[in-house]
Formats: sequence, C-alpha cells, structure tokens
Amino acid sequence: MTNFNSAAGGRGYLAIPGPSVIPDAVLRAMHRAAPNIYEGELPDMMPELREGLKSIVGTKHNATIYIANGHGAWEAALANVLTEGDEVLGIFNGIFGVGWGEVATRLGAQVQPLNCGPSTPVTSEALEAALRADTEGKIKAVICTHVDTSTSVRNDIELIRKTMDVVGHDALLMVDCIATLGTETFRMDDWGVDVVVGASQKGLMVSPGLGFVFFNEKAAEVRARMKRVSLYWDWIPRAAPQMFYQCFAGTAPIHHLYGLQAALQMIHGEGLDAVHARHAKLASAIWAACDVWGQKGPLAMNVAERAHRSHAVTTLHIGKEYGVALRRWTEQEAGVTLGIGLGMSTPDDPAGQGFFRIGHMGHINGHMLMGVLGSMEAGFAALNVPRGTGALEAAAAILAG
Ligand SMILES: *Cc1c(COP(=O)(O)O)cnc(C)c1O
Repeated sequence: MTNFNSAAGGRGYLAIPGPSVIPDAVLRAMHRAAPNIYEGELPDMMPELREGLKSIVGTKHNATIYIANGHGAWEAALANVLTEGDEVLGIFNGIFGVGWGEVATRLGAQVQPLNCGPSTPVTSEALEAALRADTEGKIKAVICTHVDTSTSVRNDIELIRKTMDVVGHDALLMVDCIATLGTETFRMDDWGVDVVVGASQKGLMVSPGLGFVFFNEKAAEVRARMKRVSLYWDWIPRAAPQMFYQCFAGTAPIHHLYGLQAALQMIHGEGLDAVHARHAKLASAIWAACDVWGQKGPLAMNVAERAHRSHAVTTLHIGKEYGVALRRWTEQEAGVTLGIGLGMSTPDDPAGQGFFRIGHMGHINGHMLMGVLGSMEAGFAALNVPRGTGALEAAAAILAG
C-alpha cells in the first residue's frame, strides 16, 4: 500500500558505516569502457594511486592493492607473516577485531585475546601485562583495530607502540585502519606500525572491492623468512611488480581503480588535514546532539570518553523498545538509513537490537549530517521517545563554531 505520509522520496542517505556515500565524481570515473590492460593509462596510473594511498596512511614504505573486501585484506596481511603454530596477541574492542583474530586462527595461529570490552580502548597496563606474560617471546604479531566500527571505539596506536617498546617486545604491530583511512589521522611510520590494512568503501568513498595492505621493512623481513605464501596473497610481486598484471595477480580491477583515482584526487584536492578536520567537526556535532537527547531519555553513546571515540562512526544505545523502530522510521519516512548494531548482545537484548550506528565517513558534509540528525529528531517525535530538547541547535552551534 502506498504510504502517502512518507517523505522518503528524493535522494536517500545511506548513513551506515560502510559502504559509504560514493561521490558522483567517483561514479562518473567508473562509468567507462575498459582500456587496454597491458599498456597505457591504466598501468601508468599505478604510481599515482600508490603515492596517494601512502600519503593517507603516512608511510614511505610498501603499498599493495588486492581485489578484495576488508576480510580479504585481513587475510592478505596475515598470510604474508603467519605460519601454523605462530602466536598472535589480538586486541579486541568489538566484532571487527575478533573477526580479524578469527582469520589468524583459521591460518593456524594461536590467538591470545586481549578483550578490552565494548566501550574502551586498550590500556597500556593491560597490554604491558599481556606482553610481559610472553616470557619466551612467542607472540609474533599484535593485531588491533584503529577504530572498531561495531563499537566506534578508537585505540591509541602510538600508546600501543610505546608500550611494546617499553616491554622490549619485537612482535609486528599490525593495524586495521579500514574505518580510519580518509577519516582521521593515521601515521604508520611515525607511530611505528609495521603492517596496515585498509579497504575502499569507508572513508575512501569507492565501492567495496579493493583491499589495501601496507608494510614496512621489518614486516618484509618476516615475509622473507616464510616457508611459503600462496601466489594470490603474496605481497612481494604486488609491491614491486615486474609486469603490470602482477600488481593484482591477474586482471586489474579497472573500474575500481578509476574510482579510486577520482576519490584520491578529491581527498588530496580538499587537503588531507581539511578532510580530517571536517570529520572531527561533524563527529562533534553528532555528539553534541546525542548529549542533549540523552539528558532526558534512553539514548546514550556507547563510548563515554570523547578521546576514545571514532570520528567516522558513532554507536548508540537506545534500548530494544526503540532501536529497530527508529531505524525503520528514518528509512521509510525520511530516506535516511541508519546502521544496525553489530555484535552488541546484552543479556536482556541478545540480538543487540537496542543499538544502532550512524556512519559519518567519507563524502558527507554539514547539511547531510543535519539531515540525519533532523530525521532522527522527527523519528523520536513520531515514536514518542523521551529525549532532551535542543539537540539540533546544539549540533548547529558546533557547525557554526
Ligand atoms: C568494514 C570493516 C571491516 C570489514 O570490511 P569488509 O569489507 O566488510 O570485509 C573490517 N574492519 C573494520 C574496522 C571495518 O570498518
């Protein structure tokens, strides 16, 4: 039955934390016939793509691209440095950290979980204790998410590196930056990160399908000692190809590469620092609105401490009474799709339906953000959700500031 009451027509906003909104310039760049894959503009654009990605990650070292989603990039990174029986310390702040650990387990590694709970980053004390317990130096890699997109917790990567240095542990530090590339500052080389994993569909604004693995010399030495790495995952030919096809172990993901080229030009055209500042400002506006709503009602941010919050995604709790209803309302009545809660099971709400997420990564600006917040306000009104008043004004004040 047609819903004549709905105001969902017009351009929708997929405000989930990935895939993010794809800019028209990226879509246009992808809409073309395939060029020659052996010579010409396609192979010629590789240096530009590699350099553009490396400057976002903050590295002078190696960049590789896989035809894969984030899960594929996870496996690509681990397959180059882990052999059966190796030990891995997994810093977990949500289901994405746990998911990467599962990939390591399936490659035959023994994964030691360092569970940090759903709302806080790892502390140096907890990490130091876990590293000191490894008296025989068996841990070969420490894996962690910079931001875990399920909980929106951000780890302090510099602190993790410093803690490893204080203990004198020489494991590789491997970081999942899938939610942070193109949304907030990351400095692989300055922070002493050995391996970084990324993907195309979050802050980098391209459709899902490209996975990125960056590695330094220390990681390359570990790779060199590996007995074998499967041909497809091997990062050596991808990082230093003799022939163009080796960049991708076969046919290049042509249209994704054109999309990526356009996205990198947009990011570097705006300026990386400006892109990060925009994300920080938009995140602050969301938090300001949520603070006000939460003053008189059930809405609460999952991460209490500002300094521990992602600038790209915000995980919220509103209780199972309202969670699903709110997402349905904003989508069906206002054209805004909010993200579901992921892995946020609680005893009274095993499916975690009382949680939801706002994705605010990539190609978004003030009016889109105010549209999301305004649609939420309308949804709260329609569903009679108790809340504080003045949330939109609080968000507007941040944008005005
Ligand atoms: C989205 C995301 C992933 C998973 O990426 P897929 O492309 O769905 O495999 C992993 N880690 C983080 C931090 C993410 O945000």
